[in-house]
Amino acid sequence: MKAPIKGGPAEFEVRRQRALGLVGAEPMVSDLLEFLAVVWGYQQERASNAKVREATQLLTVPFDLDLVSDLIAREHEQATATLGPFAPLASPEVADGFFWSVAEAPIVEGAAAQATVPATWREGSCPICGALPKLSVIAEESGEFMAGAARYLICARCATAWGFGRATCPNCREHHPRWLGIFTNERWPWARVDSCETCKAYIKTFDLRLPGSREVVPLVDDVATLPLDLWAADRGFHAIGSVPSLDPT
Ligand SMILES: [Zn+2]
Ligand SMILES: [Zn+2]
Repeated sequence: MKAPIKGGPAEFEVRRQRALGLVGAEPMVSDLLEFLAVVWGYQQERASNAKVREATQLLTVPFDLDLVSDLIAREHEQATATLGPFAPLASPEVADGFFWSVAEAPIVEGAAAQATVPATWREGSCPICGALPKLSVIAEESGEFMAGAARYLICARCATAWGFGRATCPNCREHHPRWLGIFTNERWPWARVDSCETCKAYIKTFDLRLPGSREVVPLVDDVATLPLDLWAADRGFHAIGSVPSLDPT
């Protein structure tokens, strides 16, 4: 069973290609996309390392990352040394957090790529690793994938996609339309902010049924649509699955 969403668990090369394709089109974040393309290329290479592949076999659902913590620590050292000099990072703390996530992804996503998402799972956290969602995607319904659910959440840590209710806040489960808002920008009609007044959280949603979204790789286009996040932050909303990330400003 494979999620119909590009750039899923361990698909680093798909992300790298999309990032390079967006560099010229999105001047505001082109430096960041160029750097992330290097990062995804690096992760693709680490994913084929024998020790990393071995570690992906150790993780069974739910993931116990203590089992692979020594390897992640070594990968963190290597990622920092290799990529650090090129990173447009805001602060040492942000840089360090970012490199930890870079280091663990080939292991955690590699294991997630082999795991099976329970078809009935409709929680607000990842069924494979337990982390919060980074993004939400609306895709064509598929009889083969997740019992026809049309909205998926994408894990901030392992990129797994799982089904979730369309008009419900993944953070607090508010579902009254009065408290749920949508913000769009005409530049990316297929991307929007789904905000919740009840808990002041937001999640970015990509509607992959809309024209112009055919090439979208959600985890990459998330970076390209940064102004949507700025809009949400200006209004006091916080991202649900905030993980250490790069600040291009
Ligand atoms: Zn996960
Ligand atoms: Zn909420």
